[in-house]
Amino acid sequence: MNTENGNSPPAGPPGTGKMTRAGLRGRCPRCGQGRLFQKYLKFTDACAVCGLGFTGHDVGDGPVVPAILVLGGILVDLALWLELSYQPPLWVHAALWGPLSIAATMAILPPLKGLSVALQYRYRSTEEEAEPGGS
Ligand SMILES: [Zn+2]
Repeated sequence: MNTENGNSPPAGPPGTGKMTRAGLRGRCPRCGQGRLFQKYLKFTDACAVCGLGFTGHDVGDGPVVPAILVLGGILVDLALWLELSYQPPLWVHAALWGPLSIAATMAILPPLKGLSVALQYRYRSTEEEAEPGGS
């Protein structure tokens, strides 16, 4: 398959490790080069390099659950450690953990969403035609 820029997808599917790394970097799971997101968490319609379509990928709440579990565990542990070690006033907890929770969540969601798409591509859990991307 040729695309607008003349590049062809690589022969054969990439390995699971390569797909996983590409997804975590926000790159196409098939070629590892094209961007997965056009905005913060909005997928592009298709990879600009190999043409793999992303419209059939719906990760739902898949990336949110590990973010809640992992970040929640880490942040609650840190809050407990801070309280037990230094007993700061409550306003310190309020000023620290709210913004830190939001920033950490916004930082971790794109890699987790990219990973979810890579795993969907690897295990074909999307409702797509026989050839990924519909071509
Ligand atoms: Zn691609």
